[in-house]
Amino acid sequence: MPSFDSRFARELPEMAIPWQGADFPDPAILVLDEELAADCGFDAAWLRGAGGVGLMTGSEPPAGTTAVAQAYAGHQFGGYSPRLGDGRALLVGEFTDKHGNLRDLHLKGSGRTPFARGGDGLAAVGPMLREFIVSRAMHALGIPTTRSLAVLTTGRMVRREENLPGAVLARVAASHLRVGSFQYARATGDRDLLKRLADQAIARHHPSAAESGEPYRRLFESVVRAQAALVAQWMLVGFIHGVMNTDNMTVSGETIDYGPCAFLDVFEPSTVYSSIDTGGRYAYGNQPPVAHWNLARLAEAMLPLFDDDEEKAVGLATESLNLFGPAYDEAWTNGMRRKLGLDDAVEAGDARKIAERLLVHMRDRRLDYTSTFRNLPAAVQDPEWLRDWRAMNPDVDALKRVNPIYIPRNHLVEEALGSGEIDDLMTAISDPFTERDGLERFAEPAPEGFGACYQTFCGT
Ligand code: AMP
Ligand code: MG
Repeated sequence: MPSFDSRFARELPEMAIPWQGADFPDPAILVLDEELAADCGFDAAWLRGAGGVGLMTGSEPPAGTTAVAQAYAGHQFGGYSPRLGDGRALLVGEFTDKHGNLRDLHLKGSGRTPFARGGDGLAAVGPMLREFIVSRAMHALGIPTTRSLAVLTTGRMVRREENLPGAVLARVAASHLRVGSFQYARATGDRDLLKRLADQAIARHHPSAAESGEPYRRLFESVVRAQAALVAQWMLVGFIHGVMNTDNMTVSGETIDYGPCAFLDVFEPSTVYSSIDTGGRYAYGNQPPVAHWNLARLAEAMLPLFDDDEEKAVGLATESLNLFGPAYDEAWTNGMRRKLGLDDAVEAGDARKIAERLLVHMRDRRLDYTSTFRNLPAAVQDPEWLRDWRAMNPDVDALKRVNPIYIPRNHLVEEALGSGEIDDLMTAISDPFTERDGLERFAEPAPEGFGACYQTFCGT
């Protein structure tokens, strides 16, 4: 087992409540990502034993460390909550992985904490397995994400609409510092706390900012760039996060909190799957402006670190926030260039235009997003578009290396969760770009009519 530290708790005690996991009657590992375990420096056999199960349910924290529930605030669907925090989660601590990177071990569903409000502090197997599957797919697709080490059943039932088997998800992340963490620190009015939080974020995620004369602005700009790049990758792959509240946005630039997330089937920018997103705030096509909005909330929280003069601080923040649009556009256009098999000789403006024309065609014809890119040119029936695209000398082999054939399609995830058979789906999505015999059904678009009524749930 790697050695653990409690850096977050030590440096930011105002935001950490020492706590421990619930006592579960019969905890047992349901799934373990052995590759990730090895990467983190864990012995998989040990993790499968009593010590590992205790570590991953929060009942046996590593010697000399204290697990904590983290405090954070956040805008949920636009409304501000000054005190959210880990209502059903624990930060076990930080450890150094095989590559020398500091990572958090964090447990979701480990019991009520002082932040639980009306919640039961628990999680059900379905939503935790869902995070296990989708986060693995995102990682395999090359998209920054928190990782799922294991899902454990607890032996305790969880009351939702019906009684469901309970679970804990053990996840690994670059950190759990969120936009909402900064909002919380700012709201305390304690500038020193805000500074310590920013210093930890710099040390863990954007160390080069420390060298500059304006470390906190450089930190903010690094987050802006990281989030612009991340959301561009979501858009390129057709991922809908579903609940982009500011407490669900990291400063590391990793995707976090897989709740009601889903992938696009047919290309339609207004797509919303989440049952609670009735206004469509977090629709597929709204994700870039929502990310920008969230980053504006981060800027507000960080203002005292930019300059003592508030007016001046606002000017500096605005200037830095303005990096988002160009950074997003560049990441999206470059991604689309690769998805269309075009090389760097094609000008950005031309790459963007041909991509946008294809999206219009896909929307009009209600084409499946993922397979249309994968099956270029056969999937497109617009002769003018095909002619113009061919004139740009696309490399059809190259585009197969960036357009996945296997993603965790909504109907496949539901089927796997319903049957409990996740192995074949995991095999397919763990190597998403390589077509393999026997996995044909995982490449097929959703059955007719499936998307129209599909809804996802938070499982909270
Ligand atoms: P989420 O939208 O899942 O990121 O959660 C928003 C907030 O609700 C966080 O503070 C969570 O810790 C809290 N929360 C969600 N589900 C539960 C639960 N079952 N019990 C206690 N707190 C919860
Ligand atoms: Mg959350």
